[in-house]
This record gives sequence, structure tokens and C-alpha cells, in this order.
Amino acid sequence: MRAGAILRAWPVVIALVCGAIEAQETTTSSSSRRVHCVSDISQEFSFYMDGRFFRQYLEGHGEDARNWGSLAQLDLSNANLLALTGGDAHVPYAKESVAKVNAFLAEGGAVLMLLQSAEAPGNEVTRQHGCAATATATHGPACATPQLVRFAGDSTIEVEFRGGPTLAIESMWQPLVVDAKDQTLLALRSVGSGFLLVGSRGLFGSNPDASDPINAAWITPLLLHATKKKQVDAQKPHRSTWAEDTMQLGPLLLEFHDGTAPYAKAIADEYAAIRPHLVEITGVEPAEGMIKRLLALPTGGGGFSSGERIAIGAWWGDYPKNRYPMVELIGHEAGHSWVLPCAEPLWNEPIATYLGIQVGRRMGMKEADDTLKRQIAQARRHDPKFDKVDPLSPDAHRDLVWGKSYFVFEELERLHGPAALAKYFRKKRALLTHDRPRYTFDDLVAVWSRAVGQDLFPWFRSLGFEVRAERTGISIH
Ligand SMILES: [Zn+2]
Repeated sequence: MRAGAILRAWPVVIALVCGAIEAQETTTSSSSRRVHCVSDISQEFSFYMDGRFFRQYLEGHGEDARNWGSLAQLDLSNANLLALTGGDAHVPYAKESVAKVNAFLAEGGAVLMLLQSAEAPGNEVTRQHGCAATATATHGPACATPQLVRFAGDSTIEVEFRGGPTLAIESMWQPLVVDAKDQTLLALRSVGSGFLLVGSRGLFGSNPDASDPINAAWITPLLLHATKKKQVDAQKPHRSTWAEDTMQLGPLLLEFHDGTAPYAKAIADEYAAIRPHLVEITGVEPAEGMIKRLLALPTGGGGFSSGERIAIGAWWGDYPKNRYPMVELIGHEAGHSWVLPCAEPLWNEPIATYLGIQVGRRMGMKEADDTLKRQIAQARRHDPKFDKVDPLSPDAHRDLVWGKSYFVFEELERLHGPAALAKYFRKKRALLTHDRPRYTFDDLVAVWSRAVGQDLFPWFRSLGFEVRAERTGISIH
């Protein structure tokens, strides 16, 4: 993967009356108001902003689309809410992007900015409008201001706050949530014909599975209110915008935008160097139709794979200063495309990282061996001789599963190598069809047995794996 009542320049007394009127309005017509939200993940990618934010606060009120491309080039003509995050220092908000945000506000759009710190690049967007995060610590519990209470039409309104910066606001802003020292955590003002809502990050959810819709009781009406100045057309499509820059590198299409451009080519070059190692380690090419695209993802937080496309965090592990973590990550995400179409049971993630580690070893990187040894040592704390704990049991510790998986791969290579993994991958491709509904650990042991020409069920059982040859339809001979 982190907007109000009340018009800004009006005298307080009028604002109070206005607040009451607006609260009334919220409970009636806003329920039918349609929101076309664009959740921006171009400044910083997170799984939360990739759809979960909308699901938590606006589900049933319209549609969400994601912006993966340069913000400056985004088409906002049929959108009325732009959800931004403070972003990452590696991708400053470009001057043209700030101008885009201002133009959207001018025509009546609503902008929500979630700020996680005083250093976040997003402060550049809001500071010119008189609001920025500060380094001053918050004090005590967060609570709703009278403006927010009136707006929500509920005097028992509760605020959950999970930390984040306080906001310094100029007089035209309406503070909506404050801490015990009256420091602002959420504020709204009108800008142009639209509304700008700025909040401290911890007032909103963050779980990648959208399971923490904190403050939805008042955030949802607030967002509906903020979007009221611009109508959207439900008949016209509201689509996500993809990263607009591409470069064809052999069979691989590199995808990036202005913010990730400084990293993209170097990452693609790393992949070009890693690919032949993966082919040699696994003994096969990636599965049919896989790994056609590589997306440079604006994050240092990791990557993902859809098989056909892998997405790589552009500054993962402080790349390009440090190289090994990037090699391991690319090896991992690309490795998924070798493992498919049948994902490995139990150790689908560990085997992907193990492939990354093997690539690092072959490139002579010391960190690869260190990583392997460290993970195996952590697993031994749970199972010193690796003969007791079944990694397949639901309560097996994560460290045990990962480290014991690595141990098994190393032992298989020691006992059945060289190139034991390549024997396995080749046999797996030969034995399994694309449409196989399930690939179980019993199936896997049978494939390994065929690959090395020996019944490995007793060996796996000696390591604590509860496996049975009679539960698989795959012959071991
Ligand atoms: Zn993975």
C-alpha cells in the first residue's frame, strides 16, 4: 500500500445556522447523491487505497476508479471526488499535478487529502490553501467539534483516532475533529466551487481487507456533502486510469508513470538479468501466457503478481542503493509466474522467496545466504530437529512454515540434486494439466517422488508432515 459544513468566510453565527440547515439536507437528498470517486495510488501505492477506502466509506453511493497514472494527466471530467494520500517522498507531487487538483476544486470537485506526517509530499497540495500537517504531537482523545456534531445531526457522535499529525489551519478552515488541546485533526474549507477536506491519517481505516471502517457513521455523510457541488453522469463510464508510460523490452512490456520513471528501466534490467537464472533453477520457462508485463509500483512496500503481470515496488529495500532486496523481490514475484498454473500448497509464498534467494546466491550476493540461514534458524526455535511440528497443521507458526520449507528445499537438493528443483518443476509441468481443480500437499509429494525416482512419503513423514500416498491420484512410480 494511508469534507463540510459551512462556508468558509461566513461569520460564525451564520455558519452555525448554515450548519444546521446543511445537516438537514444531508439526511435527505444526499442519500441519492452519486459519487464518482478516484482513489489515487500514483503518488504511493497501497492495497487500502486500491478499492478498500471506497468500500469502507462510499459503497452503495456510486463508483470508484483508481488512478495508476501520472496525476497531472488524469481525466476528472466525470468524477466528483478525488481521494489523495500524503504520498511518499520518492514521488513528490508535481507542479502540474497540484494544478490539476486546483482545477478540479475550481469546477466543484471534492478533494480529500489524508496526511500521515508533516513531511508528506501531500502537504504541498494543501499548504497553498492554508492547511498543513505539523510535527506537534496530539494530546488525549479526538473529539468532534460542534460543527461536526451539527453536521452529523447526532450529539453522541464518536471519533476513533489511530494516530497521525495535527493540522495547522488558517482562519477560513472549519475544524471538524480536534484533540484534547483543541489541535485540529480534520478540517474543511471551500476552494473554488468545490470542497477541500484534509484529515490526519489515523481517522480513516487502513486494513487491506477493508475490515476497519472507523468513523464511517460521519465520514460517509461528510463525503456525500462535499461532493454535492458537482454532478456526475451515471450513464458515462467511470474507469480507472492505468500508468501511461510503456517501454517494450523484448517480450516484456514495462509500465510506469512520471513518478516511477527514474526507477523503471533499472528494475526491468534487473529482471532481464534474473530471468535466465529462474529458467535454470526451475528447468522450465514461465508458464504459458505469464509475465508479459512489469509494472513499476510507487511504493517501497513490496510487490504483487497476477501471473501475467508482476508489480515491483520501485524503491523496495532502498533500491537502487541496496540491490539484494530488489533481486529477491523480483525473483519472488516473477517466481509466481513459474509456479503457476498450479500454485504450490502450503509454501507458495516461501517457494517464491526461495527462488529469489537462489537467484541472489547465483549472483554472488552474501545477503542471500544470510537470509536463508536466518529464516531456518528462526524455524528451529519451534522445531529444533525438524522432526516434530507439522507445517501443514493450522496452528503452525509462520516462522516454522517458512524456515522449514527452506530446509526441505535445501535437503531435497542435497539428497537428490544437482538441480532437484528443476527436476520437480519439469515433472510438475508434465503431470499436471492447466485445469486441475486442486493441488494438494499429497499431490505435491507424489510429484516430487516421480521427479527424483523415489517414494518420498516416508521422508516427508519423518520431518513431521502428515502426508498420505493414498490421498492423491498421482502415481508415485
Ligand atoms: Zn508472493
